[in-house]
Amino acid sequence: MKILKVCQTCDRIIGEIELDNLTSHNMDPIMDIVGNVAYALCSGCLHEMEMEPRNVYH
Ligand SMILES: [Zn+2]
Repeated sequence: MKILKVCQTCDRIIGEIELDNLTSHNMDPIMDIVGNVAYALCSGCLHEMEMEPRNVYH
């Protein structure tokens, strides 16, 4: 079964993954799986989060 991996922050489609691979491979951190869509973070958003862990908006 193929599921679509989408960035939960910018909604960018990261790629497709086989659901079977989730258990056998430690890939990108998957936050949530809804239906056949896996929400994760793309490398760009992941990088931004690491750069600015405390982004304070006023
Ligand atoms: Zn993103």
